[in-house]
Amino acid sequence: MCGIVGFTGTQQAAPILLNGLSKLEYRGYDSAGIAVRDGERLAQVVKAKGRLGNLIEKTDEGKALIGTCGIGHTRWATHGEPSQINAHPHVSGNCTRSGSGEVESEVVGVHNGIIENYTELKEKLLKHGYTFYSQTDTEVVIKLVDYYYKKYNLGPIDAIAKTMVRVRGSYALELMFKDYPGEIWVARKDSPMIIGVTDGETYVASDVPAILKYTRNVYYIGNLEFARLTPGEAHFFNLDGDEIEKQTTEIKWAAEAAEKAGFEHFMMKEIHEQPKAVKDTLGSVIKDNAIDLSSVELTEDEIRGFDQIYIVACGSAWHVGMAAQYVIEDLSDIPVRVELASEFRYRRMSLNKNSLVIVISQSGETADTLAALRLAKEKGITTLAVVNVVGSSIAREADKVF
Ligand code: GLU
Repeated sequence: MCGIVGFTGTQQAAPILLNGLSKLEYRGYDSAGIAVRDGERLAQVVKAKGRLGNLIEKTDEGKALIGTCGIGHTRWATHGEPSQINAHPHVSGNCTRSGSGEVESEVVGVHNGIIENYTELKEKLLKHGYTFYSQTDTEVVIKLVDYYYKKYNLGPIDAIAKTMVRVRGSYALELMFKDYPGEIWVARKDSPMIIGVTDGETYVASDVPAILKYTRNVYYIGNLEFARLTPGEAHFFNLDGDEIEKQTTEIKWAAEAAEKAGFEHFMMKEIHEQPKAVKDTLGSVIKDNAIDLSSVELTEDEIRGFDQIYIVACGSAWHVGMAAQYVIEDLSDIPVRVELASEFRYRRMSLNKNSLVIVISQSGETADTLAALRLAKEKGITTLAVVNVVGSSIAREADKVF
């Protein structure tokens, strides 16, 4: 999970967006991008893979982008490798750019979260003549908004409400429509988002630290609600497109406490985030209310065929393995052994060939775990990696990746 920011007001947007993204860096990310509009002109989009510093450099600290309305994103890839193409913002058109980097597009947007039914929606949009340049689920949702916007011609409220009814999954979504200069439209389900307002300026972010420097007056947008943000104002809507009244809340935390969402320690915050983290992860493999591992290329027959599962990991990932052992044995009736990667690679174990080795590594680069994975492969054993970083060494080398 990573970050979104947005600003509309009278100041230049790009430096504010970059500053906000830097405050969200602690959430982790693999690429970043911003889109900025100058009045009625089209949005200019700039994206960069890797550190936020790359984007800051590419935009000359934001000075290269003129305009007082914009959106920004740090991405933690869930669909498609980390790359400049897959980085957000994404656009509804076919990504045609003028010399100035302006994008000829009806809708420009960023998204945190996962769209579970993106394959089905993509097929539908392909039939309607849309083409896709990225591998992301996000590009699908942005093109779906564009589809409803053009099909019914009833404006953003209608197009966003229809999209929200149609998509499954989680999202904190920010959109800019070509025909609505100075406005940011946002929608939320199961991904965090707050909106800050002050005199003539409106801010949006996935987390308080990104806007604390500018305002302490925030609105909390509820699940399945969306909003129209204009300079200094926010108007909220429910799925029927009816306006809903909201009051602002004053954030009283100091900046440091805000980064921890009011918890005393980052560890407490992470513990409390776990239900959501688990839900997001499972969400990516739920189809028609059942877990479907076809995206991991594991069939039910294959799973039934294993005599033994080894879970191999280091440190806290090893503890995750201990918890997984109980669940997997309970659900599958297959014996599970949990091994420390360092021991697994150095001790001489007799390994059952007809088994599955599951390696777990947050970074996908843990040296002992990578070596253990290679050893299992050498012995002809099927391997499955559970990692948090798409494109990491472990993700690339394992037979199957979750
Ligand atoms: N699912 C989207 C992607 O892979 C968004 C990931 C995020 O939350 O940054 O691009």
